[in-house]
Amino acid sequence: MKPETACIHAARDTSHHTGAVMVPIYQSATFSHPGFGQSTGYDYSRMQNPTREHAEKLLAALEGGAGASAFACGMAAISTLMELFQPGDEILATNDLYGGSIRLFNTISAKNGIKTHYVDTTNLSAVQAAITEKTKAVFIETPTNPMMNVSDIAGMRALIGNRNILLVVDNTFLTPYFFNPISLGADIVIHSGTKYLAGHNDTLAGFLVSKTPELAERLHTLKNTLGSVLSPFDAFLTVRGIKTLAVRMEKAQQNAVQIADWLKKHPKVTEVYYAGLPDHPAYALSQRQARGFGAMISFRVDCEETAQRLLNRVELVLYAESLGGVETLLTYPVTQTHAEVPEAERLSRGIDGCLLRLSVGIESAEDIVADLNQAL
Ligand SMILES: *Cc1c(COP(=O)(O)O)cnc(C)c1O
Repeated sequence: MKPETACIHAARDTSHHTGAVMVPIYQSATFSHPGFGQSTGYDYSRMQNPTREHAEKLLAALEGGAGASAFACGMAAISTLMELFQPGDEILATNDLYGGSIRLFNTISAKNGIKTHYVDTTNLSAVQAAITEKTKAVFIETPTNPMMNVSDIAGMRALIGNRNILLVVDNTFLTPYFFNPISLGADIVIHSGTKYLAGHNDTLAGFLVSKTPELAERLHTLKNTLGSVLSPFDAFLTVRGIKTLAVRMEKAQQNAVQIADWLKKHPKVTEVYYAGLPDHPAYALSQRQARGFGAMISFRVDCEETAQRLLNRVELVLYAESLGGVETLLTYPVTQTHAEVPEAERLSRGIDGCLLRLSVGIESAEDIVADLNQAL
């Protein structure tokens, strides 16, 4: 089944007899037992709920995993993932990372005795040099947030070899429509389903997809134990969003290519970071390992005043955090997504007052460009 077909048909609800085309919202906390010692397969909705299970099966199918767990949001997924590790364990994480992941690693994971080393995961020898006996995972985001650096997943798998190190990939930006890290050797794939999967800025959701049934089972148990599960209604919205993932991703990417080209030519724009530009350092790698470049663009303008004027003056484009919805959103990483990253670290990564991030939506590219143009 091709990805666009899988988005619509990979999970089918066969547990009822009405012929409903869409999975019902099983808004029930508990489930009655047919008889002593018997179960319908559902006992209590924290453990499993049919609507959530449907979303999980869909994600597992789309990513080519053995199983998936659905969480209340992306951070709930990542914080549950961190419970796989013990005090004394170390993880290597991409040095340009979603701000919420950095906050989790530097505060709660650190308190729990798990140390994170930030490395440039686009550079395999840097990762090789950072691996120690204590390393239990390599945590990769690709393309990264906000600098759009791309890491080589098959190369990373080859480097890790059969060492006892989990290869974890946050695939929020490309989605399973464009990229399947498990097929390249990843053990666990993360999604903030809040973004492209649900796709309409109307719900939070998170997923962990596992390559093996053993890992899927461990994460399922952790999810049930910790309890930050996806609600039936939010699972429904996510499944509904995924039905149109293919057309949304195609349109958003088509817009992004046009907008990136336009930004590059604008006199007040000094730098454009988009994996789909032929002069991006990882353009060839992206073409090799993925089916698309996505629709996230970061760019730098000539000064802070220009950046702030843009944020003040956009009309169609919305000045807001988050990404991956049908609306085009403009984000200011320095005060929004990356406000809590220590200043020295932020600046060393190029996240300063001149940097803006654009999540390109599915409006007309012409209208988006016209709005950015008048605001600039
Ligand atoms: C948004 C985001 C997260 C966190 O997801 P929430 O649903 O907001 O909790 C994690 N990783 C990436 C790359 C994200 O963009």
